[in-house]
Order: sequence, then C-alpha cells, then structure tokens
Amino acid sequence: QVKAEGRNHYHFYTEALNERLSERLKLQNEMRRALKNNEFFLEYQPQYCLKNGRICGIEALVRWRHQERGILYPGKFIPLAEENGLILPLGEWVLRSACTQNKLWQDLGYPPVSIAVNLSPRQFRQKDLIGKITRILDDTGLEPHWLELEITESLSMEDVELSSEILRKMKSMGIRLSIDDFGTGFSSLSYLSRFSLDTLKIDRSFISSLSEYADKQAIVLTIIQLAKNLGLKVIAEGVESPDQLDFLSKKDCDVVQGFLLAKPIPVGDIRPYFAFELKDLILKDFMKPAAI
Ligand code: C2E
Ligand code: MG
Ligand code: MG
Ligand code: MG
Repeated sequence: QVKAEGRNHYHFYTEALNERLSERLKLQNEMRRALKNNEFFLEYQPQYCLKNGRICGIEALVRWRHQERGILYPGKFIPLAEENGLILPLGEWVLRSACTQNKLWQDLGYPPVSIAVNLSPRQFRQKDLIGKITRILDDTGLEPHWLELEITESLSMEDVELSSEILRKMKSMGIRLSIDDFGTGFSSLSYLSRFSLDTLKIDRSFISSLSEYADKQAIVLTIIQLAKNLGLKVIAEGVESPDQLDFLSKKDCDVVQGFLLAKPIPVGDIRPYFAFELKDLILKDFMKPAAI
C-alpha cells in the first residue's frame, strides 16, 4: 500500500518534471522558428525629461507574436534564450531593429531621442560584441551617441577587468551606457567609478512604493544624490502615479519612464508621443477615469 503510493508520488513527480522539460524544449524549438519567421517585434516606451517635459529617450522592449499562444513578454522567453544561447541572434536582431528605427525617426524629422537597448549578460560576454555593434551602427547610419545600452549590475561584476575593458571601448565609440534595475544587484559601489557609465536607472521596486514607505524615499533620494555626485544622469523607471512623479521632480531626478506617462507602444502608434509633453500625458491620464 505504502509502497504503491510512494511510487505514484514518484511517478507524478517525474511526469511533472518531464512536462516542464518538454515544454522548455518546445519553446526553444519554437524560438528558432520564430527568429526565421520574424515573430519577434519591438515595442517602444518613451522617457521624458523632467526639466523641460519633453521626450528624450525611448526604450526598446522585445515581444514575441507566438503563433498559438498570442503575444509573449520577455519574462517568458528571455531567460530561456539566455540559457540556450538564442539570445545572441535575438539580441542582435533587437539591436539592429532598434537602431534602424531610431535612424528612421530622425530621417522623418522627429525630435532626436536616444534609443535604449537591453543587453543580457551572455550577449555582453560574447566574442566580438564590439565588432557586431560597430557593424550595426555603420549599416544603419545611426550616430553612436543616440544609442544607449542597458546592462545590469550583476553582469558588470562577473569579470570586472573584462567588463571595464568592453565598457571603455563602447564609451570611446560614443555609445551611452546605463545600469538598469539599479539598487537590486547588491554589488560593490566601487564599479561606479571604475566603469565609464552615463546613466543610473533606479529600479521600479523602489519607485512603486515611494508614497507609502519613508525608507523607499530615502533610498531613491540617496540614489539620485549618488548619481549627481558622480556626474551621472538618473532615470526613474516604473513611474505609475502623479505622487511619484511629483516626488521625483522635486528631488531633481532627470528622466522618468513608466505607465503614468506611456506604456510600451507599438511602432505604429508612437508618433504623437514625440510631440507630447509631460503635462499633456498627465492630464490625459487624469481624464481617463472620467471618460470611462
Ligand atoms: P527592464 O529593462 O527593466 O524594462 C522595464 C520593464 O518594466 C518592461 O517590462 C516594461 O514594460 C515594464 N514597465 C515600464 N514601466 C512600468 C510601470 O510603470 N509599471 C510596471 N509595472 N512596469 C513597467 P517588459 O517589457 O516585460 O520587460 C521585462 C524585462 O525583460 C526588461 O526589464 C529587460 O530586462 C528584459 N528585456 C526586454 N526586452 C529585452 C531585450 O530586447 N533584450 C534583453 N536582453 N532583455 C530584454
Ligand atoms: Mg531596461
Ligand atoms: Mg529595469
Ligand atoms: Mg531588467
């Protein structure tokens, strides 16, 4: 009796495990197909300068238009792509598409913005990353200072020597560099002066509870101060409420990004966001409940 039950449990366990494995395998194969079939696409989330209220940057965020499962967000496939190496071709596609798009906007006469592209650890460690980026910039004709690469703290700490070498090269090309999700990586602060960075992006976990918790306010204030003292630009991500915006603008944050102003937007709908200013976007948001 007991034995049989034990076996059933074991059976159940392996079945669940197998299911997970084959699910991953399936997704992995589908990802290969998706790259060939152009199932990936980018959405663009605007960033606004607090000083003048105008757009100053746009972050490119990848999505997958899956044939059966609808639109998948990066949390569903980026970690897997990172594990199986498909992040390399995918990441290169993202970078090329984002640069092409930004150059197109400039050629159309839109106000120039920097395009922010996320770089995952494996991409960062690949051979000839610099060569690849150089080629993409040459091919697309985008000037390097309109490209901002986002890396994470953990990535930069894996091999400090190598990382600072690569970052130094990027910097000398004129590319902008930012640390994404800043404050979540628990890494040594010494890299901030060793690496040639331009921007700190305060992680959205600190922004989300800004109004409720005094300690969150203290952390955000400290990060803003730290950035100022190091001569870095500071961006707050995940800004969702007017209170948060108000706090950030009073405390001298440089740039804001978040659902309050704009969600990530399909390329066809983005044009008006180049003309919107912060005040328009906030007004628009206040009017939403009334309109419903
Ligand atoms: P991230 O780089 O920190 O990007 C910001 C994420 O926060 C995006 O999620 C964005 O949609 C979301 N977000 C922006 N404003 C708000 C807000 O006000 N409230 C809330 N709740 N969320 C907000 P998304 O698009 O799902 O991307 C998640 C992560 O996936 C990104 O975090 C980035 O680490 C990664 N990722 C996205 N695209 C790429 C890519 O092309 N390459 C690589 N390597 N990673 C990517
Ligand atoms: Mg990012
Ligand atoms: Mg982030
Ligand atoms: Mg992130």
